[in-house]
Amino acid sequence: MTLDILQLLRHDIATFAPYSPIVPLDILAHQLGFQRDQLIKLDANENPYGPTDATRAALATLTTPEGARDLVALYPDPDNTALRAALARHLGQSCDRIICGNGSDELIDLLLRATISRGDCVIDATPSFGMYAYGTKLCQGEIIDVPRDANFDLDIAAIRAAITTHRAKIIFVAAPNNPTGNPLRREELRALLDLPLIVVADEAYAEFSGITYLDLIDQHANLVVLRTFSKWAGLAGLRVGYGVMHESLATQLRKLKQPYTVNVAAEVAATAAVDDFASMQPLLTKITHDREALAHALTALGCQVYPSVANFLLVKTPIDAIHVRDALRKNGILIRYFAKPRLNDAIRISIGTPSQHERLLDVLQQTFSAY
Ligand code: PMP
Repeated sequence: MTLDILQLLRHDIATFAPYSPIVPLDILAHQLGFQRDQLIKLDANENPYGPTDATRAALATLTTPEGARDLVALYPDPDNTALRAALARHLGQSCDRIICGNGSDELIDLLLRATISRGDCVIDATPSFGMYAYGTKLCQGEIIDVPRDANFDLDIAAIRAAITTHRAKIIFVAAPNNPTGNPLRREELRALLDLPLIVVADEAYAEFSGITYLDLIDQHANLVVLRTFSKWAGLAGLRVGYGVMHESLATQLRKLKQPYTVNVAAEVAATAAVDDFASMQPLLTKITHDREALAHALTALGCQVYPSVANFLLVKTPIDAIHVRDALRKNGILIRYFAKPRLNDAIRISIGTPSQHERLLDVLQQTFSAY
């Protein structure tokens, strides 16, 4: 008897579309015929300057003989006590409200696993971050897409109607939105918080926008704020994020969380990064200034640049966006192109260093004039 092992899998998995993540730099360099350090990586909204000196020094303690024996060789703290204490000090929130995870992706997954059973509905306001829809499908939930308006702002009336019709349990709103860069306005969030569902304000880029809604958690037990160390802190490779929410919800989510998903190196580095936030702050300001300079230069080249308060720009190109993506790749410059309605005439460019921008603008100018 031959056993068809695929018959043993959940039926929805056969038709499940994989998440399309970014391609690792080494592999891309090999494919494109460049050395790794020749590539200009502006495709994943990382910090081009990396972590602060104090953060790197904290990581270095793991490679001493004592650090290796007393930290690396041991399981991490499942409660992330040190990191949560540092975050509590930094944010002015109680430790009981904070849950750390393996990137904020883990918090998205936890929230969905806690709320969604087969057929339950999740509201997504597209275009937005793809992980919300991906995680929903993993839980066999249904995404109710309520498209954003022409400026990529939320359509609150349509969201309200969709929540009622579909009895949605949770809505995810990136604040600012990825990939469009526009902020979530306080009155929009307040309108959502009055509705009978969990409202997730995903503040992955809040350290660039300077806008946060953490203060609303006191009055709204249905608000969850997500943050990450992948963008501002230069720690995307270590995978640390966190959620801040009312204690009652945090207590339940903690029960679902695998205990050791934030590893020792991640906790050491993230704790140091929070304690050293003041050293990173000038670089974050510089990145926002460089964003404005880049937006200006791109506009001068004939692009239409959407206003952004994040560390990236969504840019409508004067010629076919796929052609622009390919021309940039050939020159070792990586940006993000989304083959999706409303985004397929644009590219998303992460803010890099001024010299990376110079090279980008040179290649764009040549590409546009040769088309
Ligand atoms: N939310 C948004 C809006 C993002 O853009 C990203 C990263 N692209 C994430 C969450 C996930 O971040 P992390 O690396 O912490 O999983």
